[in-house]
Amino acid sequence: MTDRIVVVANRLPLRRTEDGWETSPGGLVSAVVPFLQERGGSWVGWTGVPDDAPAPFVHDGIEQRPVRLSQSEIDDFYLGFSNATIWPLYHDAIRSPEFHRHWWHPYVAVNRRFAEQAADALQPGDLAWIHDYQLQLVPAMLRQMRPDVRIGFFLHIPFPPVEILARLPWRREILEGLMGADVVAFQTRLGRHNFGRAVRRFLGGEGTTRWLRAGERSVRLISAPISIDWEGYASLSASPSVGARVAALRQELGVDRKVVLGVDRLDYTKGIDVRLRAYDTLLRRYRERAEDVLFLQVAVPSREEVGDYSAMRDEVEGLVGRINGAHGELHHVPVHYRYGSLEPEELVAYYRMADVMCVTPLRDGMNLVAKEFVASRPSDNGVLVLSEFAGAAQELRQALLVNPYDVDGVAEVLWRALHLPPAEERSRMRAMRRQVQRHDVFRWARACIEAIQQ
Ligand code: UDP
Repeated sequence: MTDRIVVVANRLPLRRTEDGWETSPGGLVSAVVPFLQERGGSWVGWTGVPDDAPAPFVHDGIEQRPVRLSQSEIDDFYLGFSNATIWPLYHDAIRSPEFHRHWWHPYVAVNRRFAEQAADALQPGDLAWIHDYQLQLVPAMLRQMRPDVRIGFFLHIPFPPVEILARLPWRREILEGLMGADVVAFQTRLGRHNFGRAVRRFLGGEGTTRWLRAGERSVRLISAPISIDWEGYASLSASPSVGARVAALRQELGVDRKVVLGVDRLDYTKGIDVRLRAYDTLLRRYRERAEDVLFLQVAVPSREEVGDYSAMRDEVEGLVGRINGAHGELHHVPVHYRYGSLEPEELVAYYRMADVMCVTPLRDGMNLVAKEFVASRPSDNGVLVLSEFAGAAQELRQALLVNPYDVDGVAEVLWRALHLPPAEERSRMRAMRRQVQRHDVFRWARACIEAIQQ
């Protein structure tokens, strides 16, 4: 008997380089890899390249088990069912989810392939830890194949209210899939409660918000908010090279100007359009001068093959153009917009340089950017404006919380953020920093693994 961990996730924690593999950057990978290295383990996932499925191999002390996806499966399982059905549906249907049987069938087939690969990797006594919305059928499939192992599932995105889930033609299959796990974990209490209601409604289940029974299955529900590598961000942001970069950025942007920062994947859930409109309102109605307050938006390219994403990009870029046209002068540009991604050191310099961080998703499972900003403020200053619909709002109570559907309200809070008394700014930031420091991503991983083990 061993107690290794087998992670099952859409992507392997690696990416191909010219002469082999390198570990992908990112919070989940850096949090989970040390546990697998310590206890032994495997990672089941796709390499990110069509039809790429080398035989299992060891990298970083972890057995890597690639799962093959054909181009048509990438289109139907990944871009289709995962990202154009489940993603919008689970984010409050803020874009219309598309329901296609020709997407559903590949979703089932690909989930089965992941389950088979996981079943093969698991040794007696191991535990399986399955991740996210692309793999919701894997728990039940794996249980059938390997009734002897403990199975946990973590949903990184929100679980929707029952009235929204109700639209999904395959709601029963999805719920039964998840109920194959011993533990189903959500980012927030709300997700856990929504799931409980859905299982009661559609599977005739019963139980509390912590334990559910449906048919043969008895499942534990937990909420476990994911977090960041606090130490990593705190030490990088306090480093001399980041300090120098902050000073240089300040020189470039204007030492006397306040900077409002947004950093997101260019996704319609993130409310980039909302905050641009709020900034426009701030300039028009609050007589804040564009020379004094600039808006810096980093938009990381994402899922460009999905129609709603390219439409969102057009909308955001149109807004940037209109605001700059209305409020810009030769010697100053109100909105600095960057379509692309930043290296970690540059990103942390932006976090540390900003006066106000504006995080306004219409719905977000967690939002790590909000936590990274907080961890990158060694002087305890800086104001976080945060949507109440981000999972992070449950923990970062000292942020200035906003309803992102209320543009005037966001503009008002932006004004307040720019004029917050320094003592209040510091006491809010200190409290948020304590929260994130105590609840880092390693603590999250440990809590999840312990719950699955029990
Ligand atoms: N990020 C990045 N490069 C960038 C901008 C952001 O790697 O140029 C990272 C950021 O550090 C964060 C992640 O992207 O860890 C975004 O996570 P979040 O939970 O905020 O949103 P998601 O994109 O997962 O919906």
